[in-house]
Amino acid sequence: MKRLVLIVFLLLTAASAFGVAVQADEPAACPDGLVLIQVGEISVCSHGDDAPPRGEDRSVDNDPRILSFADKVGVAEPVECIGDGQSGHRIEVLYVYTATTGNRIAEYRESFRQWAADADQIYNESAKRTGGSRNMRFVTDANCRPVVTDIQLTNVDVASMNNTINALYQKGYNRTDRKYLIFADANVYCGIGTLMPDDDKSAQANQNNLVPGWARVDAGCWSGFVAAHELTHNLGGVQNSAPNHTEYGHCTDDMDVMCYNDGPGTVMRRVCILATDENLLDCQNDDYFNTNPLAGTYLSENWNVADSPYLISMPVPPDPSQPSCQLDKMTVWLREVITVRCVNLEPGDTVVARWINYRKDKTFTGTAGEDGIAFLRVKVIGKLGTGGEILRITAKETGFTEDITVNIYTR
Ligand SMILES: [Zn+2]
Repeated sequence: MKRLVLIVFLLLTAASAFGVAVQADEPAACPDGLVLIQVGEISVCSHGDDAPPRGEDRSVDNDPRILSFADKVGVAEPVECIGDGQSGHRIEVLYVYTATTGNRIAEYRESFRQWAADADQIYNESAKRTGGSRNMRFVTDANCRPVVTDIQLTNVDVASMNNTINALYQKGYNRTDRKYLIFADANVYCGIGTLMPDDDKSAQANQNNLVPGWARVDAGCWSGFVAAHELTHNLGGVQNSAPNHTEYGHCTDDMDVMCYNDGPGTVMRRVCILATDENLLDCQNDDYFNTNPLAGTYLSENWNVADSPYLISMPVPPDPSQPSCQLDKMTVWLREVITVRCVNLEPGDTVVARWINYRKDKTFTGTAGEDGIAFLRVKVIGKLGTGGEILRITAKETGFTEDITVNIYTR
């Protein structure tokens, strides 16, 4: 296959013989079907270039993404924000260009953000299939937008994945708590991503969570779909122990973001047949992504991308018998009105919410219905930044107080 030949060729030029590159002392040997890339002191695997999805031509740059209706009316909430936008495991968006292409960040920045958001949406829509929610933990700014950093590399740097990620590694894009989503201004690949062959169930132990990852998408394939595909490799999909795996990090039970006829030995089956399935992860949720795998199934005992620390999941529902309150959304904007839903209250109890760092008279009230549920409409006030503001909710008759820490963002 073309993509394999390409990477093998790179290794040949880098190490003069394939066998040299895959020495026994390498910490992470790559199984058949994947090839090793040495990045600084780190060894990673990749299956090589992904075939372009239908309709994509890797030699023709994609236009800036057409803004959606939500973008135009200014209510787009493209990605979820969490914490300070920097801490912990994060997906970091980079734009790489050369002196030949020039820097097109001004033209494409919003598109890169939107494609990142599209990839995120693929994840969350996929999570809904198994009753969960998953959003990507992007590096975000104070306005809750993915940070896009523009980086100039040389033509040699962008000529191969190997060179690109080594150049980025040297520039410091090598953090073990980062997956780098690289929009490369080049037409070498469609997309290519690193993947560690490790099906260990434990998020703490799995290699995919211990080394950096690099997901490169070239200009002919700039899209949320290809970004989601390459990031899924970074997050550990698809392992070659999965029931429907191919030998190259994909799956055979189409339709699915990760399944395609990727090389010798792969025999495809059409299992998920809805048109929307092609934009969702893991047909039948049995190979690499399931927010709620049944005991005894493969994903209950092996690495499950839905457990990745690079993803945000909504809090586990609280004890169903105890009074509790939840916000209706995770990303909260200054001065908007949000809904707080409280359950298991005494019917008729008056529920009061207030921001404890602000005027005591600024309160919001609601009344529990016969079903013990109260809805409060709460205006978001407070200061921006890390740490969050505390919303205190009390229900006197029920004898209940709960503090919810809210991170507040501004547009
Ligand atoms: Zn792939």
